[in-house]
This record gives sequence, structure tokens and C-alpha cells, in this order.
Amino acid sequence: EKVILNGKITLKTDIKVDFEDRGYQFGDGIYEVIRVYNGQLFTSKEHLNRLMASAKSISLAIPFTAGEIEGHLQQLIQENQLENGMIYMQFTRGVSPRNHAFPAPAIDSVYVAYTKPILHSSENATAGVKTILTEDIRWLRCDIKSLNLLGNILAKQKAADAGCFEALQHRDGIVTEGSSSNVSIVINGKVKTHPATNLILNGISRQVMLGLCKDNGIPFSEQTYTTEELLQADEVFLSSTTAEILPVIEIDGKAVGNGTPGPFTRKLQKLFQDEVAKQCGS
Ligand code: PMP
Repeated sequence: EKVILNGKITLKTDIKVDFEDRGYQFGDGIYEVIRVYNGQLFTSKEHLNRLMASAKSISLAIPFTAGEIEGHLQQLIQENQLENGMIYMQFTRGVSPRNHAFPAPAIDSVYVAYTKPILHSSENATAGVKTILTEDIRWLRCDIKSLNLLGNILAKQKAADAGCFEALQHRDGIVTEGSSSNVSIVINGKVKTHPATNLILNGISRQVMLGLCKDNGIPFSEQTYTTEELLQADEVFLSSTTAEILPVIEIDGKAVGNGTPGPFTRKLQKLFQDEVAKQCGS
């Protein structure tokens, strides 16, 4: 199995984490996850633009263009003969003796990427998933895809402890997002999702979903909503690169709607699959 280290294809067994890597010591870095369908990257431009934006917002210099990185990823897909799965990639601020301030003069970032097959298991997509509500205790730059995921991890573990798939986070009663997904509701035939502010990660799947609403005459708005609206919504669904569109059927033990995936969620799942087929072949 091959991986990318600093832009070069190498063997997975050749990579070692340095204990003074700032990603390891501080979570000082950023990452992306890109889906691969039929050997093709899905929405790679959007993901790589977001990677560049994340890097810029933490003043991390990436010594490659988005186009060059896309080339590395395509090469990795080829090497590993990946048909369906994902690519995980991260950049850290590099290896330097532990000190909070950035190394000066600047040092090389450490860039790693690997592939992982995803065997299509549509159980969650078909049946829907159970969730819990939890307070959003994260920092105020959730728009950056940072390696610092402690708030997300603690939220996800709370869900796992409750036998649930995801934790829906709220800040002062306003629903923000899941621990590793965006969350949207449907009320009276209208899709509502938190606007792309500093309080959420502007998910690429979220953007694809909103584009599908627009192109197919499904009313939508990027607008905040409360936990009360969430609990009274006709439908609730998650979106993410790995989960695509996932119906939420339960929140804190209470059924969403009639407790089964609703028609808008089903429609968006279908449109999402069609979009994947359109862009990556089927
Ligand atoms: N919010 C958070 C906190 C996430 O971690 C993710 C995905 N990993 C998302 C939203 C969804 O983003 P995307 O659709 O780009 O995968």
C-alpha cells in the first residue's frame, strides 16, 4: 500500500511520525477528506480550495498548488488501484522543538495522504440514524478544517456512549452542526441549514445538497434554527463526504416525524447519487 509523503509516493511502512511534529504536539495543521467513486475524485476542486483556505487562515504555507496536489492524489489512486473509497490528507506546520509560536524562520510543512476503500454499506442511508443533542463547546473558527478535533471527538463519543451515530451540536439553543457532518431540517417542505459562518464547517456535501435543491426547485434557506425547531421538524438529515445524505430518525430518544426517513431526504439522497454518477460515472 502506497501513501504520499511531502508530494512523493512512498510505502506506508516508510512513514514515521516525528515526536516533535507540531501536528502531533499541538494539532497544528489542517486536513481534508475527499471521496473517490469509480476511481474518480468527487468535488476535488471544492475540497482543495477549502484546504487552501484552511491553510491560509492559520498562516500555514503549502508548497504546492491545488492542481499539483490533485495530481498527487490521482497518482495515489492509481498506485493503490482505489475504486471506491476516500483519501485522507493533512498538512502540519512541520517538525520543530516544542514552542507555541511558529518556528522562525519558517520550516517545511509535513504533508501526508493515504487512501481507504469504502465498501458500499447503505444500511444507515436506508434505515436512518439515531442522534443526540449536545452543547457545542468548540472554538469560534469551526470553518477551518483544523486537526484540533477535541470538541468534535467528545461530542461523537457522547453519541457513541448513547448508542447513537451522531451528536447534533447547539450553541445557546441554535443548532450548528454534527460532530463530523452538517445537519439540515425540513419544515413544511422547506430545507433549512445553518449559514456558512465561522460556527460551522461549510461542508462540500452541504454545498452539493444546496445546489441540488436549487436546480430541482426544492425550497431552501441558509438560516439558523433552534433546537425546538429541530425537534419539531418533519425531517432531519446529515450530510458529509463519507456519509453522503443520511436520514436522522431519532433525537434524544424522540422520533423525527413518524420515525422513518421522509420524502425530501429520500429525494435528496437520490439526487445526490445521480450527481455522483454524473460526475464520476456509475
Ligand atoms: N462538519 C464537520 C465538523 C465535519 O467534520 C464534516 C466532515 N468531515 C462536515 C461538517 C461535512 O463536510 P464535508 O461535506 O465537506 O465532508
